[in-house]
Amino acid sequence: MSFSALGLSDPIVRAVAEHGYTEPTPIQKSAIPAVLEGRDLLAGAQTGTGKTAGFVLPILQRLHAQIARDGALTRRRVSVLILTPTRELAAQVEESVRVYGKHTPVQSTVIFGGVGMQPQVERLARSLDILVATPGRLLDHAQQRTLDLSTVSTLVLDEADRMLDMGFIHDVKRVLALLPKKRQNLLFSATFSDEIRRLADSLLHQPLEIEVARRNAPAELVDQCVYLVRKEAKRHLLARLIKRHDWHQVLVFTRTKHGANRLAEQLSKGGISALAIHGNKSQSARTRALAEFKDGSTQVLVATDIAARGIDIKELPHVVNFDLPNVPEDYVHRIGRTGRASMSGEAISLVGDDDLPLLAGIERLIRRKLPRATLSADDAAELEATVRSAGPDIDTRPPLPPRGRSGGGARRGSGGQATPRPQSNFRQSPRDGNRQGQATRAGTGASRSR
Ligand code: AMP
Repeated sequence: MSFSALGLSDPIVRAVAEHGYTEPTPIQKSAIPAVLEGRDLLAGAQTGTGKTAGFVLPILQRLHAQIARDGALTRRRVSVLILTPTRELAAQVEESVRVYGKHTPVQSTVIFGGVGMQPQVERLARSLDILVATPGRLLDHAQQRTLDLSTVSTLVLDEADRMLDMGFIHDVKRVLALLPKKRQNLLFSATFSDEIRRLADSLLHQPLEIEVARRNAPAELVDQCVYLVRKEAKRHLLARLIKRHDWHQVLVFTRTKHGANRLAEQLSKGGISALAIHGNKSQSARTRALAEFKDGSTQVLVATDIAARGIDIKELPHVVNFDLPNVPEDYVHRIGRTGRASMSGEAISLVGDDDLPLLAGIERLIRRKLPRATLSADDAAELEATVRSAGPDIDTRPPLPPRGRSGGGARRGSGGQATPRPQSNFRQSPRDGNRQGQATRAGTGASRSR
């Protein structure tokens, strides 16, 4: 099936073709005709499914038709509002609007916090069709009356589950109160908690419900494995894997911002270029880190789940879970960063004793046991010596914040330290040395880089 068969017009089909898409993804096939008809939508779809084009393309088409009717010279007010949980996602969605809308006169902008208000105020005063925003900054503008939402006829809530996880429900409700009652609503969410269902019930009118599997379901494209490793040895093992296989573009997840900073510093001291990205960093630092990571000048990006949300890097070859996530679903989100666009990727988890309950939760969710990787006896001994000579790795991380969701939590015992185990850093396994195949695959990473 082609994009034009879905009812999209030439300027949009052309932009999509120029962007290299030949065929719509399953969510696009369902969502595009429904959005064109003006229907509400409840879509269960994660990043990686092509969901963004699923709503952006039909929205562009409708706006283009409207502009053609009203005349392109009329000054226009916001008619489509797209809310996202993070600044990175907001920026990426607006970039997609520009890319797919490049042959149309549709005007868009993005607003989020952490940057100056004034340039946004000036932009909001000019002709505008699509506004992509994070809720907090949007409300700031509404309060200061530098933004009028009374002309919005379509609302998109992207990654609604994240929005609620991040505590934005009240902000979202305040935004809803500023919109005209009669409008089209599109709600995208990777998961469907009771809270999301309640929000959907209050928001959507006879929605089309779409549920799509990820294009890159974990089992298909991502080569996953687990190293059972003492906590003190994790950073040494990570450095070793990166150096040994000459990995580039490694996205490493830690549970806390502090952990992200610490690991990035440690890796940098060990000669591996690494930057941390998390919510405490300024927007410019985050943008810079992401740009350096994308262009290859930074080898490793260490991120927390929230900061990494929305990072869309084509063909990211390696994802490392330095800490397992507290919520098993986040494991699927994390490894979804790799193995995009039909390329294979690799996701490695470094699992300490205290993470074992979390690992069990993840394996239950994905309904498979993750393969355990081991080092050869020689490599294990070498690593042991490195850990010993580096001395104790004092964990000064602050305690975990409550997540308010089930799914583990048995992260650390009192004091936050793993019980020291004097024996090897690894669980010994009869499959010693079975990472050889991995080394070969990692060594062929050139085929993935553009
Ligand atoms: P999303 O789920 O919107 O975050 O999109 C995930 C990735 O899929 C992005 O890198 C898009 O550029 C890409 N993508 C979206 N639609 C298509 C398509 N029809 N064919 C190929 N790639 C696509």
